[in-house]
Amino acid sequence: MDNEVRQTRGAAARPSSPIAVLSYHQTSPTPRRGTPVRSLVLPPWRFGLQLRTLRLLGWQGLSMRDLEPYLLGEKTGKVFGITLDDGYVNNFEHALPLLRELGFTATAYIVSGQIGGTNVWDQPVGAPAVPLMDADHLRAWLAAGMEIGAHTRNHVNLCRCDDSTARDEIAGCKNDLERLLGTEVRSFAYPYGEHRADHAEMVRQAGYTSGTAIVSSRARAGDDLMRLPRISVHLYDRLPSFVARVTTNYEDWRMRRWDAQPTSRGYYVMGGGAGQGAAAH
Ligand SMILES: [Zn+2]
Repeated sequence: MDNEVRQTRGAAARPSSPIAVLSYHQTSPTPRRGTPVRSLVLPPWRFGLQLRTLRLLGWQGLSMRDLEPYLLGEKTGKVFGITLDDGYVNNFEHALPLLRELGFTATAYIVSGQIGGTNVWDQPVGAPAVPLMDADHLRAWLAAGMEIGAHTRNHVNLCRCDDSTARDEIAGCKNDLERLLGTEVRSFAYPYGEHRADHAEMVRQAGYTSGTAIVSSRARAGDDLMRLPRISVHLYDRLPSFVARVTTNYEDWRMRRWDAQPTSRGYYVMGGGAGQGAAAH
């Protein structure tokens, strides 16, 4: 599909009902209190409880690739997106078996400059080094029916990059992963959720079919496919509100209360400026 066609499809995106796209990070036993970015580490039992509950209620979890026909309004159903940022080995160990058991698919967004490395971008704030998937993990992830997406080459905040660096981080990550894995990489996530409209245009021009931010809302008719909102799941999210965020308009109602009022947790409205999703990674 060339860019012109893709843009036309993106502009015409009409999901018939809002679709929640979840953003997870680590699935691992909870680190001790006071550990930086601790709220983004979910114990595997809690991750499992959340997804099993949605499954019991008749909902299907899908990767961004598998979600595309729903986002474009070509299919309808009780579906939600599952994305895992940064590509932690603990996702391979704990999330993958559960996803397979439930018949769900998910997208792991990979930092191509740190394949087999660690979360070096978190370490300046004192977060522990956590291993990231290597090439063998990524191949096995794909072989299990999951999707690999891109998350820049170096987990940069695009809003702090000049244009040529931003373009290289976005397009280069796609090239790196496609060369390594021999498969098309369609989906992109903005590190920290941070981006501007011109970054979304770079994502489109690089040939991605979706770009996800962190804006706590469900995707709905008319949203730009290159700036889709995602709901970040945190350690202390309680099960009833988690379920409500996916299956009802609870999150949309909550968003309206915060409309145009950024908070320390990073809840911003779609298109609300450069500072989207500062609390998320
Ligand atoms: Zn990240």
